[in-house]
Amino acid sequence: MSQAALPGATVASLQRQSLLDPVDNRILLCHALGLSRMGLITQSERTLTEDEAARLSALIARRLAGEPVAYLIGRREFYGLDFAVDANVLIPRPETELLVELALERLPPRGRVLDMGTGSGAIAVALAHTRPDAAVTALDVSAGALAVAGRNAASNGATVRLLQSDWFGALQDDIFDLIVSNPPYIASGDRHLSEGDLRFEPAGALTDHADGLSALRRIVGGAPAHLVPGGWLLMEHGYDQSDAVQALLTAGGWQDVQSWHDLAGIARVTGGRAALR
Ligand code: GLN
Repeated sequence: MSQAALPGATVASLQRQSLLDPVDNRILLCHALGLSRMGLITQSERTLTEDEAARLSALIARRLAGEPVAYLIGRREFYGLDFAVDANVLIPRPETELLVELALERLPPRGRVLDMGTGSGAIAVALAHTRPDAAVTALDVSAGALAVAGRNAASNGATVRLLQSDWFGALQDDIFDLIVSNPPYIASGDRHLSEGDLRFEPAGALTDHADGLSALRRIVGGAPAHLVPGGWLLMEHGYDQSDAVQALLTAGGWQDVQSWHDLAGIARVTGGRAALR
């Protein structure tokens, strides 16, 4: 089958026969040849040059070894925007768009919002792009992630203040109207960490190396000092963590504690409002 990527193969033949999932195959073919989806159709009888064949073979080999397509092409779409991604950041997931939508519904005019553990900047950039009036701050402990987030803010024309910070560590007396986070929430040793795309993603973005709730606990514990009274805290979490996160919020005196379901019907985001002081 690697024969198929030899110079002389046509674009059409490479789409008919591949070891890869057809969608993955098409995306890698476009990437290796610098063609759009439409280009694959209009140039279907074109044969590959030696360079193109070498590029495509390398991409296919990496995909067959499990590397995520988003890392192979360095891009992923999120909330209708194009994001650069590399191994410094988690690949944005469609379920995280729920967190963006809930945040937008709660962001007051010229609202100040904080995204904790921004990674690629997907959430912060989606918010700033949709609501240019908002003052968006995004923090991450990883300098590599902040570099990616900065590029994504610029390429999407979004203004985001970036801060290197271990959770609340580098925040001074900043106060926000809204805090959002998609923190690492997979428990250490969870088998998902050694499966699929997750094997290639930064461990620090996926797992707290503990029970899966330690980052969520820190955020719930620290957020009241940085929220206006009545301000919302919204957190993404794992499929089985909504009860635990609700319990953390309730024990902390948060109001209106509730969870929201993603498109797969999984309770995916939990939040509450800071108590009125
Ligand atoms: N949703 C991701 C997954 O389960 C995990 C993201 C995270 O830990 N914040 O693949």
